[in-house]
Amino acid sequence: MAIEKTFSIIKPNAVKKGVIGDIIKQFEENGLKISAMKLGLISKEKCELFYAEHRERPFFGELVQFMTSGPVVLLCLAGENAILKNRDIMGATDPKKANAGTIRAKHGDNVGENAVHGSDSAASAARELAIFFDKHEICN
Ligand code: ATP
Ligand code: MG
Repeated sequence: MAIEKTFSIIKPNAVKKGVIGDIIKQFEENGLKISAMKLGLISKEKCELFYAEHRERPFFGELVQFMTSGPVVLLCLAGENAILKNRDIMGATDPKKANAGTIRAKHGDNVGENAVHGSDSAASAARELAIFFDKHEICN
């Protein structure tokens, strides 16, 4: 199977709770390697571009407000089947519905503040990585 790259965000609620290390450990223990990583605030403009597919959803304003409310960790994760694997490790969007042991079950607070983002396809991963990382910032 090919090595894939995917994009992940450790969201502001998880950074505030001090569980960056626990989340990264879960990625690494499941065979995902960190190829790029930054901590910082994201601008409203970049956040709106990133979540453009949700622009018409009723929670869009709240989502952008939350995602720009504090520092996040931006990650490129690499590994075999990385895109689907990351989605499995994250768990369902709503932490109440996420399988036990997944990141969202452990650290999500509600459907909006659900601790992590992960790209849902190869096309999304490429689009999302390009928003937050320059090519030279991603290691192989
Ligand atoms: P993500 O794209 O963040 O990995 P996802 O693919 O599981 O999550 P999406 O349907 O793409 O879920 O929604 C994107 C994000 O919008 C969710 O992670 C969550 O933060 C927020 N969101 C989704 N549904 C709701 C909702 N009903 N109310 C509030 N926020 C929501
Ligand atoms: Mg999504």
